[in-house]
Amino acid sequence: MIDVATFGETMAAVRAIDPLRLGGAMRLSVAGAESTVAIGLARLGHRARWIGLVGDDETGALVLRTLRAEGVDVAHVRTDHRGPTGLMLLERRVGDLTRVIYHRSGSAASYLEPADVLPALDPAPAILHVTGITPALGPGPAAAVRATVERAARTPGTRVCLDVNYRSRLWDRDRAAEVLRGLVPSLSLVVASHDELDLVAPASATTESDRVAALLDAGVAEVVVKRGADGASGHTPEETAHVPARRVEVTDLVGAGDAFVAGHLSGTLDGLGLAGRLGRAVTCGAFAVASSGDWEGLPTRHELALLDALPGSTLR
Ligand code: ATP
Repeated sequence: MIDVATFGETMAAVRAIDPLRLGGAMRLSVAGAESTVAIGLARLGHRARWIGLVGDDETGALVLRTLRAEGVDVAHVRTDHRGPTGLMLLERRVGDLTRVIYHRSGSAASYLEPADVLPALDPAPAILHVTGITPALGPGPAAAVRATVERAARTPGTRVCLDVNYRSRLWDRDRAAEVLRGLVPSLSLVVASHDELDLVAPASATTESDRVAALLDAGVAEVVVKRGADGASGHTPEETAHVPARRVEVTDLVGAGDAFVAGHLSGTLDGLGLAGRLGRAVTCGAFAVASSGDWEGLPTRHELALLDALPGSTLR
Protein backbone atom coordinates (compact mmCIF):
# COMPACT_ATOMS: atom_id res chain seq x y z
CA MET A 1 0.00 0.00 0.00
CA ILE A 2 1.14 3.56 -0.73
CA ASP A 3 1.64 5.75 2.36
CA VAL A 4 1.50 9.12 0.61
CA ALA A 5 0.29 9.93 -2.90
CA THR A 6 0.93 13.37 -4.32
CA PHE A 7 0.81 15.06 -7.72
CA GLY A 8 1.71 18.28 -9.50
CA GLU A 9 4.39 19.66 -11.75
CA THR A 10 8.06 18.68 -11.58
CA MET A 11 10.37 20.81 -13.71
CA ALA A 12 13.94 20.77 -14.85
CA ALA A 13 15.79 23.16 -12.51
CA VAL A 14 18.90 24.98 -13.66
CA ARG A 15 20.95 26.60 -10.89
CA ALA A 16 23.35 29.27 -12.06
CA ILE A 17 26.39 30.10 -9.97
CA ASP A 18 26.56 33.66 -11.37
CA PRO A 19 23.78 36.01 -12.56
CA LEU A 20 22.02 34.22 -15.42
CA ARG A 21 22.58 37.03 -17.92
CA LEU A 22 26.32 36.61 -17.54
CA GLY A 23 26.18 32.92 -18.45
CA GLY A 24 28.78 30.70 -16.87
CA ALA A 25 28.51 27.45 -14.95
CA MET A 26 25.12 25.93 -14.20
CA ARG A 27 23.88 22.76 -12.55
CA LEU A 28 20.89 20.82 -13.87
CA SER A 29 18.54 19.06 -11.49
CA VAL A 30 14.78 18.72 -11.01
CA ALA A 31 12.36 20.61 -8.79
CA GLY A 32 8.72 20.55 -7.84
CA ALA A 33 7.06 21.06 -4.49
CA GLU A 34 5.13 17.79 -4.46
CA SER A 35 7.95 15.62 -5.78
CA THR A 36 10.28 17.12 -3.15
CA VAL A 37 7.80 15.98 -0.50
CA ALA A 38 7.71 12.52 -2.11
CA ILE A 39 11.52 12.29 -2.15
CA GLY A 40 11.69 13.42 1.48
CA LEU A 41 9.22 10.73 2.49
CA ALA A 42 10.96 8.02 0.48
CA ARG A 43 14.29 8.90 2.11
CA LEU A 44 12.62 8.47 5.49
CA GLY A 45 11.49 4.98 4.50
CA HIS A 46 7.87 5.65 3.52
CA ARG A 47 6.18 4.50 0.32
CA ALA A 48 5.60 7.67 -1.65
CA ARG A 49 3.93 7.97 -5.04
CA TRP A 50 4.23 10.99 -7.32
CA ILE A 51 1.79 11.40 -10.20
CA GLY A 52 2.13 13.89 -13.05
CA LEU A 53 2.79 14.52 -16.71
CA VAL A 54 6.25 15.14 -18.09
CA GLY A 55 7.14 16.20 -21.62
CA ASP A 56 8.37 13.73 -24.21
CA ASP A 57 11.87 15.16 -23.88
CA GLU A 58 15.23 14.67 -22.19
CA THR A 59 14.34 16.77 -19.13
CA GLY A 60 11.18 14.68 -18.68
CA ALA A 61 13.42 11.61 -18.71
CA LEU A 62 15.61 13.29 -16.08
CA VAL A 63 12.58 13.90 -13.85
CA LEU A 64 11.55 10.26 -14.09
CA ARG A 65 15.05 8.93 -13.61
CA THR A 66 15.61 11.11 -10.56
CA LEU A 67 12.36 10.12 -8.87
CA ARG A 68 12.96 6.43 -9.59
CA ALA A 69 16.48 6.67 -8.22
CA GLU A 70 15.08 8.22 -5.04
CA GLY A 71 12.66 5.33 -4.57
CA VAL A 72 9.50 7.28 -5.41
CA ASP A 73 6.73 5.27 -7.10
CA VAL A 74 6.18 6.69 -10.62
CA ALA A 75 3.94 3.93 -11.95
CA HIS A 76 1.23 6.48 -12.85
CA VAL A 77 3.45 9.15 -14.40
CA ARG A 78 2.68 9.74 -18.08
CA THR A 79 4.72 11.29 -20.87
CA ASP A 80 2.64 13.82 -22.81
CA HIS A 81 3.65 15.31 -26.16
CA ARG A 82 1.38 18.40 -26.00
CA GLY A 83 3.98 20.47 -24.13
CA PRO A 84 7.56 20.30 -22.84
CA THR A 85 8.70 19.53 -19.34
CA GLY A 86 8.61 22.84 -17.43
CA LEU A 87 11.82 24.72 -16.73
CA MET A 88 12.89 26.67 -13.68
CA LEU A 89 16.01 28.85 -13.53
CA LEU A 90 17.57 29.88 -10.23
CA GLU A 91 20.25 32.49 -9.72
CA ARG A 92 21.93 33.85 -6.62
CA ARG A 93 21.83 37.64 -6.88
CA VAL A 94 22.78 39.15 -3.53
CA GLY A 95 23.94 37.15 -0.51
CA ASP A 96 21.50 34.26 0.11
CA LEU A 97 18.75 35.88 -2.00
CA THR A 98 17.74 33.50 -4.79
CA ARG A 99 15.77 34.67 -7.83
CA VAL A 100 13.58 32.03 -9.49
CA ILE A 101 12.41 32.32 -13.10
CA TYR A 102 9.78 29.91 -14.42
CA HIS A 103 9.09 28.70 -17.95
CA ARG A 104 6.08 26.51 -17.23
CA SER A 105 3.18 28.01 -19.16
CA GLY A 106 1.89 25.42 -21.68
CA SER A 107 4.09 22.71 -20.16
CA ALA A 108 3.06 19.05 -20.31
CA ALA A 109 2.07 19.23 -16.63
CA SER A 110 -0.53 21.91 -17.34
CA TYR A 111 -2.55 19.30 -19.31
CA LEU A 112 -3.10 17.11 -16.23
CA GLU A 113 -6.70 15.92 -15.84
CA PRO A 114 -8.58 14.11 -13.05
CA ALA A 115 -8.41 10.90 -15.12
CA ASP A 116 -4.59 11.01 -14.88
CA VAL A 117 -4.67 10.99 -11.10
CA LEU A 118 -7.81 9.22 -9.83
CA PRO A 119 -6.66 5.69 -10.82
CA ALA A 120 -3.44 6.26 -8.83
CA LEU A 121 -5.53 6.58 -5.64
CA ASP A 122 -6.74 3.00 -5.92
CA PRO A 123 -5.93 1.34 -3.57
CA ALA A 124 -6.26 4.40 -1.37
CA PRO A 125 -3.10 5.89 0.18
CA ALA A 126 -2.95 6.71 3.89
CA ILE A 127 -2.40 10.37 2.96
CA LEU A 128 -3.14 12.41 -0.17
CA HIS A 129 -0.92 15.49 -0.29
CA VAL A 130 -1.73 18.43 -2.58
CA THR A 131 -0.42 21.97 -2.86
CA GLY A 132 -1.95 25.28 -3.84
CA ILE A 133 0.42 25.39 -6.81
CA THR A 134 -1.36 22.67 -8.79
CA PRO A 135 -4.82 24.32 -9.12
CA ALA A 136 -3.05 27.46 -10.40
CA LEU A 137 -1.54 25.57 -13.36
CA GLY A 138 -4.78 25.44 -15.38
CA PRO A 139 -8.35 24.15 -15.42
CA GLY A 140 -7.35 20.48 -15.77
CA PRO A 141 -4.93 20.48 -12.82
CA ALA A 142 -7.49 22.46 -10.75
CA ALA A 143 -10.16 19.86 -11.54
CA ALA A 144 -7.69 17.09 -10.64
CA VAL A 145 -7.08 18.65 -7.22
CA ARG A 146 -10.80 19.05 -6.55
CA ALA A 147 -11.69 15.54 -7.69
CA THR A 148 -8.91 13.76 -5.81
CA VAL A 149 -9.33 15.75 -2.61
CA GLU A 150 -13.07 15.09 -2.58
CA ARG A 151 -12.58 11.38 -3.36
CA ALA A 152 -9.90 10.96 -0.67
CA ALA A 153 -12.01 12.79 1.92
CA ARG A 154 -14.80 10.25 1.35
CA THR A 155 -12.38 7.31 1.70
CA PRO A 156 -12.17 5.87 5.21
CA GLY A 157 -8.58 5.84 6.46
CA THR A 158 -7.26 8.46 4.00
CA ARG A 159 -6.20 11.88 5.26
CA VAL A 160 -5.90 14.88 2.97
CA CYS A 161 -3.10 17.41 3.43
CA LEU A 162 -2.95 20.81 1.70
CA ASP A 163 0.19 22.94 1.70
CA VAL A 164 -1.06 26.38 0.63
CA ASN A 165 2.20 27.22 -1.17
CA TYR A 166 0.92 30.46 -2.72
CA ARG A 167 2.67 31.44 -5.95
CA SER A 168 1.95 35.04 -6.92
CA ARG A 169 3.31 34.49 -10.45
CA LEU A 170 0.56 31.97 -11.16
CA TRP A 171 -2.56 33.64 -9.74
CA ASP A 172 -3.70 36.49 -7.54
CA ARG A 173 -4.67 36.16 -3.89
CA ASP A 174 -8.43 36.57 -4.49
CA ARG A 175 -8.55 33.76 -7.03
CA ALA A 176 -6.34 31.53 -4.86
CA ALA A 177 -8.56 32.15 -1.83
CA GLU A 178 -11.71 31.33 -3.79
CA VAL A 179 -10.31 27.98 -4.94
CA LEU A 180 -8.45 26.95 -1.77
CA ARG A 181 -11.31 27.81 0.60
CA GLY A 182 -13.50 25.48 -1.46
CA LEU A 183 -11.19 22.58 -0.56
CA VAL A 184 -11.37 23.13 3.21
CA PRO A 185 -14.33 20.78 3.97
CA SER A 186 -12.21 17.89 2.58
CA LEU A 187 -8.96 18.65 4.41
CA SER A 188 -7.51 16.92 7.47
CA LEU A 189 -4.26 18.89 7.61
CA VAL A 190 -3.52 22.44 6.45
CA VAL A 191 0.08 23.66 6.28
CA ALA A 192 0.57 27.38 5.61
CA SER A 193 3.12 30.09 6.12
CA HIS A 194 1.89 32.72 8.57
CA ASP A 195 1.15 35.07 5.64
CA GLU A 196 -0.84 32.44 3.72
CA LEU A 197 -3.49 31.51 6.30
CA ASP A 198 -5.92 34.12 4.95
CA LEU A 199 -6.02 32.20 1.66
CA VAL A 200 -7.72 29.20 3.29
CA ALA A 201 -9.52 30.68 6.31
CA PRO A 202 -12.83 32.53 5.88
CA ALA A 203 -12.52 36.24 5.05
CA SER A 204 -14.37 37.06 8.30
CA ALA A 205 -11.39 35.80 10.35
CA THR A 206 -8.78 38.57 10.56
CA THR A 207 -6.14 37.43 13.06
CA GLU A 208 -3.95 34.33 12.98
CA SER A 209 -5.70 32.80 15.99
CA ASP A 210 -9.15 33.50 14.50
CA ARG A 211 -8.06 31.90 11.22
CA VAL A 212 -6.72 28.80 12.95
CA ALA A 213 -9.89 28.52 15.07
CA ALA A 214 -12.11 28.91 11.99
CA LEU A 215 -10.27 26.11 10.17
CA LEU A 216 -10.51 23.78 13.18
CA ASP A 217 -14.23 24.67 13.49
CA ALA A 218 -14.65 23.77 9.81
CA GLY A 219 -13.44 20.23 10.62
CA VAL A 220 -9.74 20.45 9.72
CA ALA A 221 -8.02 18.16 12.24
CA GLU A 222 -4.69 20.01 12.32
CA VAL A 223 -3.41 23.42 11.24
CA VAL A 224 0.34 23.98 10.99
CA VAL A 225 1.84 27.45 10.59
CA LYS A 226 5.43 27.74 9.27
CA ARG A 227 7.52 30.67 10.44
CA GLY A 228 10.83 30.32 8.63
CA ALA A 229 13.80 30.74 10.98
CA ASP A 230 11.34 31.05 13.90
CA GLY A 231 10.13 27.46 13.52
CA ALA A 232 6.49 26.45 13.40
CA SER A 233 3.27 26.12 15.39
CA GLY A 234 0.73 23.33 15.26
CA HIS A 235 -2.88 23.36 16.38
CA THR A 236 -5.44 20.59 16.85
CA PRO A 237 -8.78 20.89 18.62
CA GLU A 238 -7.04 19.48 21.74
CA GLU A 239 -3.64 21.16 21.80
CA THR A 240 -1.24 23.76 20.46
CA ALA A 241 2.53 23.36 20.21
CA HIS A 242 5.32 25.64 19.08
CA VAL A 243 8.68 24.24 17.97
CA PRO A 244 11.69 26.50 17.26
CA ALA A 245 13.71 26.04 14.08
CA ARG A 246 16.92 23.98 14.32
CA ARG A 247 20.00 26.19 14.21
CA VAL A 248 21.99 25.58 11.06
CA GLU A 249 24.09 27.61 8.70
CA VAL A 250 21.91 28.64 5.78
CA THR A 251 23.07 27.57 2.31
CA ASP A 252 19.86 27.67 0.24
CA LEU A 253 16.40 28.53 1.59
CA VAL A 254 14.46 27.18 -1.40
CA GLY A 255 12.61 23.94 -0.63
CA ALA A 256 12.50 24.37 3.16
CA GLY A 257 8.71 24.31 3.21
CA ASP A 258 8.48 21.07 1.22
CA ALA A 259 11.11 19.38 3.39
CA PHE A 260 9.12 20.54 6.41
CA VAL A 261 5.95 18.91 5.03
CA ALA A 262 7.80 15.66 4.32
CA GLY A 263 8.98 15.56 7.94
CA HIS A 264 5.54 16.36 9.28
CA LEU A 265 3.81 13.69 7.19
CA SER A 266 6.52 11.20 8.18
CA GLY A 267 5.82 11.92 11.84
CA THR A 268 2.10 11.52 11.18
CA LEU A 269 2.64 8.12 9.53
CA ASP A 270 4.80 7.06 12.48
CA GLY A 271 2.04 8.02 14.93
CA LEU A 272 4.05 10.76 16.67
CA GLY A 273 2.30 13.36 18.85
CA LEU A 274 1.94 16.97 17.70
CA ALA A 275 5.30 18.16 19.11
CA GLY A 276 7.02 15.08 17.65
CA ARG A 277 5.54 15.70 14.21
CA LEU A 278 6.62 19.34 14.30
CA GLY A 279 10.04 18.31 15.59
CA ARG A 280 10.63 16.03 12.62
CA ALA A 281 9.29 18.75 10.30
CA VAL A 282 11.71 21.44 11.53
CA THR A 283 14.57 18.93 11.40
CA CYS A 284 13.86 18.19 7.73
CA GLY A 285 13.43 21.93 7.06
CA ALA A 286 16.86 22.56 8.59
CA PHE A 287 18.49 19.88 6.41
CA ALA A 288 16.97 21.59 3.36
CA VAL A 289 18.24 25.08 4.21
CA ALA A 290 21.69 23.79 5.17
CA SER A 291 22.27 22.23 1.76
CA SER A 292 22.11 23.36 -1.85
CA GLY A 293 19.16 22.23 -3.97
CA ASP A 294 15.50 21.64 -3.14
CA TRP A 295 15.73 17.98 -2.20
CA GLU A 296 19.34 16.84 -2.53
CA GLY A 297 20.15 17.41 1.15
CA LEU A 298 17.05 15.78 2.64
CA PRO A 299 17.84 13.29 5.40
CA THR A 300 17.45 9.55 5.51
CA ARG A 301 15.96 8.14 8.70
CA HIS A 302 19.42 7.40 10.13
CA GLU A 303 20.53 10.95 9.41
CA LEU A 304 17.70 12.62 11.31
CA ALA A 305 19.80 12.57 14.49
CA LEU A 306 22.82 14.21 12.81
CA LEU A 307 21.74 17.69 13.86
CA ASP A 308 22.08 16.60 17.50
CA ALA A 309 25.83 16.02 17.02
CA LEU A 310 28.10 18.66 18.56
CA PRO A 311 29.16 21.39 16.12
CA GLY A 312 32.50 20.57 14.54
CA SER A 313 32.34 16.87 15.45
CA THR A 314 33.48 14.17 13.03
CA LEU A 315 31.26 11.12 12.60
CA ARG A 316 33.20 7.90 11.94
P1 ATP B 1 9.94 27.64 0.70
O1 ATP B 1 8.77 28.25 0.00
O2 ATP B 1 11.25 28.34 0.43
O3 ATP B 1 10.04 26.17 0.53
P2 ATP B 1 8.39 28.21 3.05
O4 ATP B 1 8.18 29.69 3.05
O5 ATP B 1 7.31 27.33 2.57
O6 ATP B 1 9.74 27.87 2.27
P3 ATP B 1 9.58 28.43 5.65
O7 ATP B 1 8.63 28.85 6.72
O8 ATP B 1 10.53 29.44 5.13
O9 ATP B 1 8.75 27.71 4.49
O10 ATP B 1 10.46 27.22 6.18
C1 ATP B 1 9.86 25.98 6.54
C2 ATP B 1 10.58 25.44 7.74
O11 ATP B 1 11.96 25.25 7.42
C3 ATP B 1 10.55 26.37 8.94
O12 ATP B 1 9.38 26.16 9.71
C4 ATP B 1 11.81 25.93 9.66
O13 ATP B 1 11.56 24.78 10.44
C5 ATP B 1 12.76 25.56 8.53
N1 ATP B 1 13.59 26.74 8.24
C6 ATP B 1 13.35 27.75 7.40
N2 ATP B 1 14.32 28.68 7.45
C7 ATP B 1 15.23 28.23 8.36
C8 ATP B 1 16.47 28.72 8.87
N3 ATP B 1 16.99 29.90 8.47
N4 ATP B 1 17.12 27.98 9.80
C9 ATP B 1 16.64 26.79 10.21
N5 ATP B 1 15.46 26.27 9.76
C10 ATP B 1 14.76 26.98 8.86
